[in-house]
Amino acid sequence: MFDSPHRRFNPLTGDWVLVSPQRTKRPWLGQVEKVQPEKLPRYDPTCYLCPGNERAGGIKNPDYDGTFVFDNDFAALTPGPLQESHASDHPLLVSVPESGVCRVVCFSPRHDLTLPELELPVIENIITTWTQQTGELGAKDFIQNVQVFENKGAMMGCSNPHPHSQIWAQSQLPNEITKELASQSVYFHEHGQPLLADYLAEERKRGERVVFQNAHFTALVPFWGVWPFELLLIAHRPSAYLMELTSIEITALAEVLRQIAIRFDNLFETSFPYSMGFHQAPFDGQLHSEWTLHAHFYPPLLRSASVRKFMVGYELLAMPQRDITPETAAERLREVSSIHYKKSGN
Ligand SMILES: [Zn+2]
Ligand SMILES: [Zn+2]
Repeated sequence: MFDSPHRRFNPLTGDWVLVSPQRTKRPWLGQVEKVQPEKLPRYDPTCYLCPGNERAGGIKNPDYDGTFVFDNDFAALTPGPLQESHASDHPLLVSVPESGVCRVVCFSPRHDLTLPELELPVIENIITTWTQQTGELGAKDFIQNVQVFENKGAMMGCSNPHPHSQIWAQSQLPNEITKELASQSVYFHEHGQPLLADYLAEERKRGERVVFQNAHFTALVPFWGVWPFELLLIAHRPSAYLMELTSIEITALAEVLRQIAIRFDNLFETSFPYSMGFHQAPFDGQLHSEWTLHAHFYPPLLRSASVRKFMVGYELLAMPQRDITPETAAERLREVSSIHYKKSGN
């Protein structure tokens, strides 16, 4: 059905992606090499995220044994109510003030254990921390959006290998949330159902793009995915915020996150880099029945631990393009082992 060039529509953002399945048959001239993973110590005395170590400005980390949260020492946003709007002397030169809070969430004291290598209760604790932080930050008067995200791997520009995530809470909606809110609102108004609930039902019926699911969450390669192994993780129960998750749902979410991360690592037997993050409804005091809690995973790797996809040229100037289809990507992620390759002794 999908063996010739076509476009696919992303109903969440209104963007299109060009899919060129015939190109997966072209000869590959680049080198595919095995990358030996760097062996990290349990504790690194030079790491500013490890317990007991010193951070910027001479602040000392506590001897934490679970998650550890602190305000980013080099925050992109500063807190407090918005300053008076900038005076603009030209309609094409528009800027508005922004304020917010940027925090870092260390996953665990272990410098060497990434998400797929952590035990389930540790991942549950990470989700609970994200949830508490989201609730605390979202309750502030000047906060409209809370973005929980993880940047994993040097390839994604992550500056410290100690597994951690970030939370940026800000006073205005960022671009992606603005687009997704508009699309989901229009859809809910027209159909009386959340867009992602309808999409999830259809994907679960078809199954071909589903990678892993349990009673409360489904991870799938979206029909309109741009990155080769992009994933969308959708909550089954209508919910708009992480704080709405029950303890059973947190356990289920931990299982799906762990499975996704294990399968990613197993694909090329490497610590699989990605940017991932949750999309929650705006924190504006309104009821957001149109919204479904979900997370996006954007991994850059294409065919090995060292061969990545670049968003350059045509993609920067025209539109995103992919060769491997979302159906093939989902099949590959379903086929790999559910046990981490480091544990399975390979
Ligand atoms: Zn560390
Ligand atoms: Zn989203």
